[in-house]
Amino acid sequence: MFNPVLGPEEWQSTLERLVDWANSMPTVTVNEAFDKIAELLKAEHFGVESCKLEGTNDDSAAAEMRYLNMGETYALTLIVTDDYHNGEKLIVSSWGDWYEAAEQHYNEQHDTIRCGWCSNLTPMENTDEDREANGIPDDEVEWRLVLCEKCGNYVNGDSGPNRDRSGHPLEAKQHN
Ligand SMILES: [Zn+2]
Repeated sequence: MFNPVLGPEEWQSTLERLVDWANSMPTVTVNEAFDKIAELLKAEHFGVESCKLEGTNDDSAAAEMRYLNMGETYALTLIVTDDYHNGEKLIVSSWGDWYEAAEQHYNEQHDTIRCGWCSNLTPMENTDEDREANGIPDDEVEWRLVLCEKCGNYVNGDSGPNRDRSGHPLEAKQHN
């Protein structure tokens, strides 16, 4: 049964103080500190979960972290990161906020955008050069013209012409 002792403000200040404690201990790694804090506060969370940015072409470049599961996407919690914008670090945030920041950072670094159909992070450069012929009205907003390289639809959610940039039907290609 989940029965937390700490109220929201106590929870936040407790996490912040424990992060300060961990950062003052040079011989303790952030992952070791995270595990100790998770055990110490086990009555206050649903367990340790891990999270990874999904939909990237390069899985090794996808940001990862572990966090204390509070049962809600934007609930304040303790996170130990392993990603390019934070490095290995203890942060007090929510997994939803972390995920949005990781996705934004990945898109900026790789010039990608998330597909509204299949959630793949697809290159911005993969635009439909022949949209009028495909019956899609001209559009001055560039990102709406981006075709997902995985599912072949427009990333804004419009149905695509179901072929890739060079005109090959998508069915002829293998996607994983
Ligand atoms: Zn897609």
